[in-house]
Amino acid sequence: MPNSNFVSVIIPVFNEEESLPHLFPRLRASLEGMNRPYEIIFINDGSRDRSLQLLHEFYRENPGKVRIIDFNGNFGQHMAIVAGFDHSRGDIIITLDADLQNPPEEIPRIVEKIDEGHDVVGTVRQNRQDPKFRKFASRIVNAVTNRITGLRLNDYGCMLRGYRRDIVDIINKSFESTTFIPALAQKFAVNPVEIPVGHDEREYGSSKYSIFRLIRLNFDLMTGFSLFPLQAVTMIGMAVSFLSFLFAIFLMLRRLIVGPEAEGVFTLLNINFFLMGITMSCVGIIGEYIGRIYVEVRKRPRYVIRREWGGE
Ligand code: UDP
Ligand code: MG
Repeated sequence: MPNSNFVSVIIPVFNEEESLPHLFPRLRASLEGMNRPYEIIFINDGSRDRSLQLLHEFYRENPGKVRIIDFNGNFGQHMAIVAGFDHSRGDIIITLDADLQNPPEEIPRIVEKIDEGHDVVGTVRQNRQDPKFRKFASRIVNAVTNRITGLRLNDYGCMLRGYRRDIVDIINKSFESTTFIPALAQKFAVNPVEIPVGHDEREYGSSKYSIFRLIRLNFDLMTGFSLFPLQAVTMIGMAVSFLSFLFAIFLMLRRLIVGPEAEGVFTLLNINFFLMGITMSCVGIIGEYIGRIYVEVRKRPRYVIRREWGGE
């Protein structure tokens, strides 16, 4: 197969000056060891530290192997990967984080799986080294997402993944402004597989996700792949109406038999607050979808590239 072994590695970079010098030698060694043509595409997602300078050093020292796409601002990890997909030339495309939490030495194993005929190779982090609350939150997110999207993935968050060209081409054709790459790929995959990979603590620099960004990302995941939350809202509404109808009948009978009631004002308030809470979150869920529709119809570019190096 002369034309099916070119490997593109896509790495989003956002303020990673501490880890890049450690990442690059290991990554290059791992890729050289495979004896295949390859390219490494770094996407600088609006870093404000020395990341871009470091990337330039890699580029100068490795002509023809390293490419840089420099965003004009911070568009987020998933948009950086989308840009990398758009510009990649490989038959096999690997995504990897810059923070060395997933070892680049695992890349040959992923490539091997694609050679075996799988079109998407997912990974499951073994003894994941992240703060406890994040692991716990991930467990819930994985379970809920699988439920409502109908996908089957054990670890949505692990970004060390491999894709065959045809899958990346399909993703390139879905012009969504908010997206979650592993779930999107899983949706189009015909013959996916998941393999265990190592996971380390972040040694250099710190996580680029605050708790609010993580929550937003998870909303992308839920609303981007299913209408179930909207249907759930309708069903909750119907259930509540039905229950209050029963309650109304009960009150009517009570009035006829026992007489009018007066006490229990706070119980009433409490029930009312509870229902208001449900109403507000339902409106919020609908708002999530409307917001996303708004972002889509505005049709702003999903990312803006300031400059590119390499790949001519
Ligand atoms: N990243 C990015 N843009 C962002 C946030 C993160 O390109 O807005 C990159 C970051 O440089 C890293 C990867 O995405 O290569 C994963 O980020 P991080 O390790 O901080 O996420 P975590 O491991 O905490 O989920
Ligand atoms: Mg990380």
